[in-house]
Amino acid sequence: MTSSDHVSTLVLKTPGRASKASPSDVRRNNRSLIFSLLFPGSQYSRADLGRLTGLSRVAISDVVNSMLDDGLIRENGYETKTNGKGKRGTLLGIDPTRLRIITINLSNAHFIQGAVTDLLGNSLKQAEIALSVKKRVDIGTISNLIAKLAEGCEHIIGISIAAVGVVHDGVINRSTEFDWRNIDLETPLERQFKKPVIITNAVVCSMLTERFFGHAGPNMLFVEVDRGIGAATLLDDAVIIGENHAGGEIGHISVDPNGPKCPCGKRGCLEMLVSSPALRTRMRGALPDEQVSILTEAGGRLASALATPIGLLDMNDVCIYGPADIVNTAFLNAAQQYLDRTTTSTFRHHTVVRRCECGPNTTVRGAAIVMVRNLLER
Ligand SMILES: [Zn+2]
Repeated sequence: MTSSDHVSTLVLKTPGRASKASPSDVRRNNRSLIFSLLFPGSQYSRADLGRLTGLSRVAISDVVNSMLDDGLIRENGYETKTNGKGKRGTLLGIDPTRLRIITINLSNAHFIQGAVTDLLGNSLKQAEIALSVKKRVDIGTISNLIAKLAEGCEHIIGISIAAVGVVHDGVINRSTEFDWRNIDLETPLERQFKKPVIITNAVVCSMLTERFFGHAGPNMLFVEVDRGIGAATLLDDAVIIGENHAGGEIGHISVDPNGPKCPCGKRGCLEMLVSSPALRTRMRGALPDEQVSILTEAGGRLASALATPIGLLDMNDVCIYGPADIVNTAFLNAAQQYLDRTTTSTFRHHTVVRRCECGPNTTVRGAAIVMVRNLLER
């Protein structure tokens, strides 16, 4: 058994399936449970899995065999017994060798990024399509990229798309970036490729990568600072989407009523004050000291918007994902100092602000995790 007893249960959360489980629900839940114990990098023997889940040997054997057949998990050699007694069990782990996922990232301004990944979200093949200056992106462009990625690829379990804006049921309800309103990506792409298609908010995708491959636990406030400002919340390993599927859309919350006018009609929205284009414009030609004070002000502003939700949710971990020239030490220190001043007290735990360091494929990798999660719920 590995030392990682802090096991994630994210993939097994299936809302609305709690009552009156049918045999197929039980089987699905058991698969999900075992997968989530192994994902991403744990290895357990059948006996370990029995102890951890409370399932009988017969049940474990049945579920494990079906998962081996489906290519979800594989046998990774024998465990090392410290006491030298008893039969050594075969270790089971996630199988990255068979099943493939196509992931598409629509959150970049100048290109669409695509990849074929394994079940752990590792990119095995990458491709991208540059967008014209007008940022034209349509379903045809996306489907060309998918076709290119799918060429010669076997065992594709689905297509997972990370998109900016409000996403619900395969439809991008609103994306100011691409000027989309109610664009259904799921139906035409499923029809064309005959595979399940899932569309998810890109910040949620990035947050899932931080959860499984970064340093986060089951609770975090994840904020993406780039062209736009978006946030995602993880509470007890559940992603909080919100009543109108717009949870985390904090870019147009006004933090300065006298600030610059925003295209949305208000003044001083976070996106006008803290987004990377806004800050880069202000820093252009400024002296190094002035640049530091611009980023210090920006870090404080962002923290001022986050202080209340941090207190409300009793959140210890704030993870910020963004370009290194913006989300740097000056920015993070200013955010930390603001939160120390405003949220810490004798009865309120210290909240840590830190940078997401999962690298350039954070969003694409998260899209793969979304597809894995979906696969287990089917
Ligand atoms: Zn606005």
